[in-house]
Formats: sequence, structure tokens, C-alpha cells
Amino acid sequence: MPHVITQACCGDASCVYACPVNCIHPTPDEPDFGIAEMLYIDPSTCVDCGACVSACPVGAIVPGHRLPETAARFADVNAGHYGEPATDEARFPVRAEWRLPMAPITKPARLGGAAPGELRVAIVGSGPSAMYAADELLKHREVKVSVFERLSQPFGLARFGVAPDHESTRSVANLFDEIARHPNITIALNTEIGRDITLDELRRTHHAVLWAGGAPTDRPLAIPGVDLEGVQSATSVVGWYNGHPDFADAAPLLDGERAVIIGNGNVALDVARILTADPDRLAVTSIDLTALASLRDSAVREVVVAARRGPENAAFTLPELVGLADGPARVWTDPAELAALDIPELHDPEQAAKIALLHEISQRPRPAEPFIRLAFGLTPEQILGDDRATGIRFRRTVGGEPVELSAGLVLTAIGYRGLPVPGLPFDEADGTVTNRDGRIVVDEAPLPGMYVTGWAKRGPTGFIGTNKTDSQETVAALLDDAQAGLLPATAASGSAPRRFGRRLAAR
Ligand code: NAP
Repeated sequence: MPHVITQACCGDASCVYACPVNCIHPTPDEPDFGIAEMLYIDPSTCVDCGACVSACPVGAIVPGHRLPETAARFADVNAGHYGEPATDEARFPVRAEWRLPMAPITKPARLGGAAPGELRVAIVGSGPSAMYAADELLKHREVKVSVFERLSQPFGLARFGVAPDHESTRSVANLFDEIARHPNITIALNTEIGRDITLDELRRTHHAVLWAGGAPTDRPLAIPGVDLEGVQSATSVVGWYNGHPDFADAAPLLDGERAVIIGNGNVALDVARILTADPDRLAVTSIDLTALASLRDSAVREVVVAARRGPENAAFTLPELVGLADGPARVWTDPAELAALDIPELHDPEQAAKIALLHEISQRPRPAEPFIRLAFGLTPEQILGDDRATGIRFRRTVGGEPVELSAGLVLTAIGYRGLPVPGLPFDEADGTVTNRDGRIVVDEAPLPGMYVTGWAKRGPTGFIGTNKTDSQETVAALLDDAQAGLLPATAASGSAPRRFGRRLAAR
């Protein structure tokens, strides 16, 4: 049986390059790569060799015959992408008209003329985009990478942003550990730019600085009542249950029977799942133990995930919905509410599959508590309460009738947002460092030696692996500039780096 890509797909496309028969799509060269919710194996061309399994950093690929029950639907999700029924006849034996083995091989950028370790690159941040950039740079023995991380533990959202029950996804940290073991990389922890070192110092002591600071805050929701006790961002709850030091005091109030999450992206689903999960199941994960103790005492019986638009515009991805529907979570959507929505006919197979699965979920009996309810077409208007939240008033997005729900906890999950970095140009509209293909620009002119990658470059979208191609693009720009002699002639050579290292250690 052919192999199947499952929920944990990170989209970094390592599998694409490993596949000898080009059966995994979209590839980074194909137009829909940038918008794909996951990658898919074509069951009619997969030769079952397993090369992709070894390449996948998050263990998301499983031989079809070993698919666990909870992931069985992914055989259809993969096959459906190619418009094929997931029947045994269609899958195997492989047909004669195999696609040619033509997985895209990117031409590695070359760096000539520099001595080993001569090109010093500073990376600020150690999250996925930083580590993928480091990996790309370390392919060149001429490059020495210094990573600067504000926290006492590396890997950013791979450690502090992924839900503790998504263990496969968290295993990407093993790949980052491997990258960190390269002899030409150092990682300085507890080192904050602006507090321990300045950006100017980095520029003076490195040939290039690559900003990978991510999108460290959340988008604010501007409705009355958001400042009440019992209202906070879902991202602060993610930080809290993952033991992020900035969110140690962000414990949510779990004394009410209902919690409402505004927005229905994957962050909303993650938080809804953790708030309704069996604490004994969470106890075997990496969840923060203080958070686990609070969850054991939780009074929450229902978590409503409320979207302002309909299911056809749901922000959560199909793999996450499948994981929710077929995994241990209890999820439901009200069939009457779903029937009242005017859902258009969809031609995109992933979107159509989401709607079909939502209909299936709505036909299930209302689950035992605590459970998650997916609600649609509700525009938040006001959070109710005097000192603390007691509920929320929505207006139906179509029709305009008011809908009030009691709730002791209201979480906003309407996206992350980047913050301006002193000394770097900032695009207010999308919260990113102003850049062109990763080169930081001021008035369209590149700032010599300054680069950006990840969420700080493109905004808070995509999955962990999306950062691989993103960082490859930025690093290609950096290496092109190095090759063209466009990096500033800094004091990065001679004894300056050693003096910088000593100053930093002293601080
Ligand atoms: P997101 O996917 O951008 O979803 C934001 C949600 O907030 C949408 O439902 C959006 O609705 C809603 N929203 C925005 N403004 C609103 C407003 N003023 N009032 C009401 N609702 C509003 O954000 P996210 O969930 O934070 O995820 C960020 C990125 O991280 C995504 O790419 C996500 O896939 C990724 N991520 C992935 C995983 C995973 O793979 N397991 C886990 C976590 C995060 P509209 O569409 O109507 O604007």
C-alpha cells in the first residue's frame, strides 16, 4: 500500500526531495505550494519505498497498511488531492504512466573565495525560521553562524507554540538539535538584542545579520469589554500551558462552565482541545505541570469556537479538523445552526472536504462534556460583565440578530502580530520588517548586510516547515550579496569578533 501523509505534516518539503518518483505534491516549485494546507502523496505513483519517511522531520508519513484508525481518513485526504478514490485498485500496483522522477532539486548557492568560517552571520531568534536559515547557511564551510536567543531555551514556537498533545510536530526539535550540533554554529541563550547587545554591535561584528524574531504578540480585538478579567489572548494560554516564561502568570480563569474562543484558526483549535482534554492524557505530554494542575481543577464543560464567517472560510486547516474529529477530542457542531448557513458549493477539494466533515460531525450525538462546539457566522460585539467577563454578545454576521452566550472565560484567537524592532523599518499594515525577498529595505533600497526571515518577514502564516523554503529564499539573497561583494566591510574580521565574544560573556 502507498504511504500516506498525516496530520503532523509540517510542509517543509524534505519528503519531496527524498521521493525518487516525484509523487509528493505540491512541490516548492508548484504554484499552490505556498497555499497548501499540507503535502499529499499520490497513491497511484507512490512506490512504497519509504524514502519520505526517513526524510520527514515530524514523523507525519506512515505506510498505508500501518495507518492508525485515528488517521485512516488521511488516505482519502491524500488521494482526494489527486482526484482519485482511495480504493485498493486505484492505489496499487503502480500504473505504467508513472510521473518521471523529477523532484525539484534546488541548485545550491555557491560561495567562492572566502576562507572557511570567514563569513560571520548573526541570526536573531532561534525559532524554526532561524534554525532552517542556519541549516541552509551551514551547508557552506565559509560561513560561521552565531544565534542569539532571548530565552533560556532555544527553538521558539517549535517549543513554546506547538500544543503539547501534538508530539509528532514537537519532534521537529530533534532536527533543530542536530543543526545546533554543527561545529560552525554557536547559540547564545538569555541574550536579548537591545538589552545585552545592540543591533549596531551585531552589525559591526558580523558580515550579515538575519532577523528571525517572529511575531511575538497577538492581534488585539477592539470591542468593548476586552479589558475585563477573564478575557485574554489564546496565544497567552498557549504560552502558559507550554511553560513559556513570559506567560507564567497568564493562567486562564477556569471556574466557569463555558469558555468562548473568538476566531477559528489552528490556534483556537489547539487551545479548545487542551481545555477539554482528559488531564490524564495530557499528563504524559510535555505540558507545564502547573498548567496541568489547573486543568485538573477546571470547571469548563463547553468550549465554543466562534468564527465570524461561515465554514467555507474556516481558518483551521483540514488536517487539524480531521485530527479533532477522529482523535480523542469531543467535538460537535449544531446541525440546525449549520443548516441555517448559506454555504456555497465549493470546488476546492480541501475546502469541500472540510464542509463534508463538519456536516458529519453535526450528525453525531451531542458529545459528553467537556466538549468543543464549532460555531459559525457570529461577529463579536461586546464582552459582558462588570469586573470580570460573564458572557459575550455576538451579532449574526448575516441577518444581524444578537446572540448572547454566558462565559466565564473569553479568549481572542485572531492571529499573531509582529512588533516594530528599533533600528529596522516596519510595515504597520502587516506587522512585518519591510523587506524584498528577505533583504531588509528602506525606501526600496536594501540595508546592506541586513536580512529577515520567518513570520517577521512574511507575517504569521503557514506551518513550521513553511519556514524552510522561506529561509532558503532569504539565505540565497544573502549568499548572492556575499558573492557580489555587497556585504559591508565590517570589523567582522581580525580580533573584533573575539573582543565581542568576551564582552558578551562578561555581560
Ligand atoms: P489565523 O489562522 O489567521 O486565524 C485567525 C482567526 O481569527 C480567523 O478565524 C479570523 O477570521 C479571525 N479573526 C480575525 N480578526 C477577527 C475579528 N476582528 N473578529 C473576529 N474574528 C477575527 O490565526 P491563528 O489561529 O493564530 O494561526 C496563525 C498561523 O499559525 C496559521 O498559519 C496557523 O495555521 C498556524 N498554526 C498552525 C498550527 C498547526 O498546524 N497545528 C497550530 C497553530 C498555529 P476571518 O477569517 O473571518 O478573518
